[in-house]
Amino acid sequence: MGTIKKYFPVFLIISVVVLIFAIKREDSRQKYEIRQTHFFMDTYIEIVAVTTPKDKDKTYKAIQDAFVIFQNLEKKFNFYNHKSYIQWINEQIETPIKDKDLLYLLQYSLDMAKLTQGCFDPTLGALKVLYPIGEENPVPPSPQEIEQALKVSGYKKVHLKGNKLEKPKGLLIDFGGILKGYAVDKAWELMRKRGIKNFIVNGGGNIRVHGNNAKGKPWHIGIENPRNTSKIIGVITLSENAVATSGDYQRYFFYKGKRYHHIIDPKTGYPAYKSISATVIAPTAKLSDALSTAVFVMGREKGISFLEKMNLQGIIIDEKGYSVTKGFKGKIKYN
Ligand code: AMP
Ligand code: MG
Repeated sequence: MGTIKKYFPVFLIISVVVLIFAIKREDSRQKYEIRQTHFFMDTYIEIVAVTTPKDKDKTYKAIQDAFVIFQNLEKKFNFYNHKSYIQWINEQIETPIKDKDLLYLLQYSLDMAKLTQGCFDPTLGALKVLYPIGEENPVPPSPQEIEQALKVSGYKKVHLKGNKLEKPKGLLIDFGGILKGYAVDKAWELMRKRGIKNFIVNGGGNIRVHGNNAKGKPWHIGIENPRNTSKIIGVITLSENAVATSGDYQRYFFYKGKRYHHIIDPKTGYPAYKSISATVIAPTAKLSDALSTAVFVMGREKGISFLEKMNLQGIIIDEKGYSVTKGFKGKIKYN
């Protein structure tokens, strides 16, 4: 009895110290989300990552480096930047390509063009420049201008042989329909390699996730109502995978009551009018980015059956309503 009494204060101190350590350790493992946003590629890029006080610095550093990927790719491939590779390549007729990103983007986007029978087409730059979206008092192009641009555009006119690109004079390559998805995948890969286990990379609506949110639940992604973007029409949950939305409400102008938006129908040279928004879920962000643009052009019926054949999920909205792929039914919670 005497011994216990004698050592009681020591036991007490040890217990308190152990308790403090236990609480501190628990604290350093407490999960929470950090969120960072920057403006690149004409849009907001947001990265959300789950971290703990212990891993905070590592997580911040990974996010910072992921943003550098967006910054560098924007510099290289911005269609309107005179110092970009894309402007340089657009001035050439025959070019040996050294840059790895450029070679990959060319090959991948031409593959996507074949896969979608040209509904996704990275050679529509000559048409893109005709629509003064974002400028003051915009006026749409004349039918003659469109006809002229159509004549020099089209993925079948472009040949990539090894690292040599051949294309007709006047044809302008534009990676606008795929660059964000490509950048999201590269940023996602960097985060994962740095050991970040739970995060979202959102490049202006091109989203790829990994793991779960801070509560250990799958990430929730809202699908915007295309005619009232402050509202969402539904929510999907994702643990892996990527999702992208293409819409006529993202970049457009009105002229004499008609909407002229940024997604071009390669057959007509005019904006694609079959859809108002198209959302695609796919294993990578570049695939969902390319295919959301492509199925937007295809329209509801053709677009949904194309996605079903590819075993992918999606939702296409037009003026009359919306359709979802078979596998998507029950996976989306409608508001
Ligand atoms: P997204 O927002 O991903 O659907 O991409 C739209 C952007 O892709 C446009 O701003 C253009 O730069 C480019 N684009 C327009 N029409 C097409 C098309 N049919 N195929 C591929 N890229 C396109
Ligand atoms: Mg796209």
